[in-house]
Amino acid sequence: MDCPKCGQWNPDDKRVCWRCDAELPRPVEKKVKKPTLFLGMPVWSWVLIVLMVVILFAGQCLGPVLLNRGG
Ligand SMILES: [Zn+2]
Repeated sequence: MDCPKCGQWNPDDKRVCWRCDAELPRPVEKKVKKPTLFLGMPVWSWVLIVLMVVILFAGQCLGPVLLNRGG
């Protein structure tokens, strides 16, 4: 973490700044962030599914168009 006094980076387990001996604030406890669920699934998985469907759909629609292009 950065020293509040001099801005020097210090390892998180340090209690005082190695540069200016200023007391460092305690590291903030990392809260375990629960993923936002939508219908029992994390939102990112829905995004992934939608992306795959879009890609498949686009492939179905654009595939023939691209293949027939230039003919
Ligand atoms: Zn310092």
